Amino acid sequence: MSFENLNLHPLILKAINDSGYTSPTPIQEQAIPELLAGHDIMASAQTGTGKTAAFMLPALHRLATPSKVPGRGPRVLILTPTRELALQVSEAAAKYGKHLPRTRVVSILGGMPYPLQNKLLSQPVDILVATPGRLIDHIQRGRLDFSRLEMLVLDEADRMLDMGFIDDVERIASTTPATRQTLLFSATLDGAIDRVAARLLKSPKRIQVATQQAKLDNIEQRLHYVDDMSHKNRLLDHLLRDIALKQAIVFTATKRDADTLADNLSAQGHEAAALHGDMNQRDRTRTLTKLRHGGLRVLVATDVAARGIDVAGITHVINFDLPKFAEDYVHRIGRTGRAGASGIAVSFASLKDGINLKKIERFTGQRIASHVVPGLEPRVKSRPGPSAGGASRGAPSIAHKRNRTWANDSGRAATNGNWDNTRGRSFNDSRENTRGNTGGNTFKTSDAPSPYFRTK
Ligand code: AMP
Repeated sequence: MSFENLNLHPLILKAINDSGYTSPTPIQEQAIPELLAGHDIMASAQTGTGKTAAFMLPALHRLATPSKVPGRGPRVLILTPTRELALQVSEAAAKYGKHLPRTRVVSILGGMPYPLQNKLLSQPVDILVATPGRLIDHIQRGRLDFSRLEMLVLDEADRMLDMGFIDDVERIASTTPATRQTLLFSATLDGAIDRVAARLLKSPKRIQVATQQAKLDNIEQRLHYVDDMSHKNRLLDHLLRDIALKQAIVFTATKRDADTLADNLSAQGHEAAALHGDMNQRDRTRTLTKLRHGGLRVLVATDVAARGIDVAGITHVINFDLPKFAEDYVHRIGRTGRAGASGIAVSFASLKDGINLKKIERFTGQRIASHVVPGLEPRVKSRPGPSAGGASRGAPSIAHKRNRTWANDSGRAATNGNWDNTRGRSFNDSRENTRGNTGGNTFKTSDAPSPYFRTK
């Protein structure tokens, strides 16, 4: 199926096209038609499945038609358990709504100053993304007018339940019009979520997509510690010479790196080419066709360019640079092990990747076992393998935390040996924060985009 079949507004299709998406994900394919038909839905879909666009695209489609009700209050309200998720959702609204006129997105999050939020809420709003506690505060102070509200989205409802936000969510819902369309997204649709849905949704359609967890089962994940760029290049060359490797996607952090690495690999005799967003569509299509037909053994790509690539011959994914976001890791390694085959996902990690590695392992609930290639051992000491350290779900081993000496990229010894020493925090600062606790998450105000997105 293509996005064109979904009957979305042409300006939304244009934004989808700009994002480089070629086809809807399963959750989008199932949810969008139901939502455009006006049904409530409850969907089991985790982050990484494309669930944000699954509700945001129909929400924006609604906004393309002016409201019949006068007023300045939000027409779409999205409740999320964490600030981090709220910001991602706000960014998605701005991204997919960028061609629509007058689509104003505001996020109201806990831990942010009230005066700015008061000001934002005094102006017209189309999409409001909020964490429940702070929104309740504003509702109680009479700053919200939900008379125009058409759609209420409960994103990651199971987490809101776990975190004790569900009462707030229900109180918020009770202040919105009964005519609203309500959407509930949750990792699982179990008894507790069913009861919430029974109270807030009207004859919802149930939608279920495979969880990320299940998808990773056929992929062997490996970690290689690397000292510096030269070490990385030698390891990559070695891995690519393995005859068991039929086709591989090598991920780099930037488009430029993808070009450079593809050139270097070609110079070393590998059948390699780059794929990234700066290439014109014709070149991208040509490269992908070559990959599909087996005429290319190594594709060096960036996250965006490689999204959705479905080539059965990909036996290996190599994270030359570790992704910044755990969701991207899952997307990347999901490029191998397609169509029931098994696959191998290799990640290179240096000292500075400690935080990202921890996030990835927490997200997947799986510990990545470290491997060493004889003759290409890292100078840095790798952490113990699963047998020594124990591969516990959601909590990577920290057995080696003390008394380690890591050599950093410049060859000097790292001073405190902690994974997180780039931030001066210890590795296990927020280890217990696997679920339902915003207090320790890595959200930084300085990283956050403005809470106010004006899409036009
Ligand atoms: P989500 O599950 O909403 O967090 O989305 C995960 C990632 O998938 C985001 O980075 C989106 O940009 C991306 N994405 C969403 N829809 C598609 C699509 N149809 N094709 C490719 N990537 C997508």
